[in-house]
Amino acid sequence: MCGISGIAGSKNIGVPLLESIKHLEYRGYDSCGVAIMTPYHIEVRKNIGYVDEVNEREKLSEPQGEIGIAHTRWATHGGVTKENTHPHLSCNKDFAVVHNGIISNYMEIKKWLIGEGHKFHSETDTEVIVHLIEKYFPASKDVENAFVMAIKQLEGTYAIAMITTNEKDKIFCAKRESPLVIGLGDGANYIGSDFNAFIDYTKNAVVLDDDEYAVILRDRYFIKNTFSGDIVRKKITQINWDSDMAKKGGYPHYMLKEIYEQPQCVINAMQVDKGLIRKLSEMIMESNRVYLIGAGTTYYVSLFSEYNFSSIAGIFTPAISSDEFKNLGEVDKDSLVIAISQSGETYDTLNALKFAKSRGAKTSAIVNVMGSSIARFADHTIMQGSGPEICVISTKAALSQMIILLMVALEVGVINKKLTIKNKNEIERNISMLPELIQKILNEKSGFIHTIAYKFSHINNWLYLGRGKYYPIALESSLKMKEVAYIHAEGMPAGFLKHGTIALIDEKLYSIIFMPPKSNEELYNLSLGSAEEIKARKGFIIGFHFGEKGGVERLFNEEIILPKAQEVIAPFLELVVAQLFAYFTAVALKRNIDKPRSLAKSVTVA
Ligand code: GLU
Repeated sequence: MCGISGIAGSKNIGVPLLESIKHLEYRGYDSCGVAIMTPYHIEVRKNIGYVDEVNEREKLSEPQGEIGIAHTRWATHGGVTKENTHPHLSCNKDFAVVHNGIISNYMEIKKWLIGEGHKFHSETDTEVIVHLIEKYFPASKDVENAFVMAIKQLEGTYAIAMITTNEKDKIFCAKRESPLVIGLGDGANYIGSDFNAFIDYTKNAVVLDDDEYAVILRDRYFIKNTFSGDIVRKKITQINWDSDMAKKGGYPHYMLKEIYEQPQCVINAMQVDKGLIRKLSEMIMESNRVYLIGAGTTYYVSLFSEYNFSSIAGIFTPAISSDEFKNLGEVDKDSLVIAISQSGETYDTLNALKFAKSRGAKTSAIVNVMGSSIARFADHTIMQGSGPEICVISTKAALSQMIILLMVALEVGVINKKLTIKNKNEIERNISMLPELIQKILNEKSGFIHTIAYKFSHINNWLYLGRGKYYPIALESSLKMKEVAYIHAEGMPAGFLKHGTIALIDEKLYSIIFMPPKSNEELYNLSLGSAEEIKARKGFIIGFHFGEKGGVERLFNEEIILPKAQEVIAPFLELVVAQLFAYFTAVALKRNIDKPRSLAKSVTVA
């Protein structure tokens, strides 16, 4: 979690440095701060709160200087306090450090350093780094040497940036398992946890790998391997995102903007390189076991896709939550693990992939962020091309991932002879209608969903029920409600309800039922059966359905009617409705939509 940035420039960097952490704020937003090299000393300004709030109080961009680092924190060690906010200074105030990650051996280092006379001001693991560098510097009077000695002593995960009065024109940075990228500008160079840190200034970037460090100056930089000391040469990555794509563009929140971008995202997902889809399909066919893994929303994307692989491709591809993969996944050299991650930095997912690779398994990934750790680590990567997703809660990225995996399932279905080319083309034609149908919902249903959401925003407990593919959709929809509105919503298979949870149903418990179209008669009737069970116990039901008559009018207290759609795309439409329902509920409750409490976009800790 957390965002790091830094600028080595030739002009005053106060304002661009402030802008850079604003662009990274979705990564963590407990507190933030900057360290700027003034002609006389390192000026640190920091405090708790969002960047704009802290800037108001502390005037973050005011100090004049040409070199600086900044941080926006998602606390792991030590409370959300001013003292624990980064940057942290050494005792003599000659070194300032920001850090993303967890130093797992910090306690023993801290004890030793205290014994050596160092005074600590925070409870963070991070602070040991700056004191270690200070400790090692006097012996050689060589900053790079002291920096590397300190880094080598650290266990755990880190992206670190450091400035020092001893070499006032340089930023020293290093990485292991937390992301760090370098931006190469005109008259200035940059660092960031991701490209958003400097996308307004340059599209040329270099991505650091684990156990590498870099020294950045205004007009040059070098990268070395931390352990061998060898210079590492890297190719320059061209960022294909536009800074305008990451702006709100008239929408009140990024979440709404991103929900509205979904028709285009489906089009982009359908245009993903066919060669990559084909390659992944072949990898699936060549493997004895195939797993889909993800965390949070992407776990639900995996679960949804598991249904598609079974029903369309005739292949069972269990979905496992990345954090449980080591405990559950049985992998060897004949296995394939397909990871789904928006940021490409999700620690649990990367860790699961590393575990799989160590057992000889093949790995593939579907990722939205170019140059991210997972994108580079997997043997095969599909870039989903959804454009920047800024709201901490995933909407458009998840929907795109579902489409891409559906296209893979179709391809596998053909190779596996479960589908003819004709079937596949027909299903693809149906999928190509999805953008228009989503647009129809956005144009024609938003107002009504807004009304319903406001009407029921006082309800504190929801059940979200679906059968078949509508079950993972119910789970993902319930997660949206929890994340953005802080309302308890429990997703489960509608058929599971009667096996226990039904005891909760009375007139105070509200349910949403995700109905399939009537063309899937068996599932439709079973879903109606679940509604009957709730109704019989006086439960309140909102039904999402496709306008078919015969039962639903009587069972549902409220209904949201969707445009008629083929089975293969119907679940996506219900997901869009549920996203809007969660969004408007959160607006009604005045929640912090784009940065909900306790969350962070890119979960880079275990
Ligand atoms: N472990 C550090 C802290 O709690 C860094 C957390 C982060 O990545 O934001 O301050």
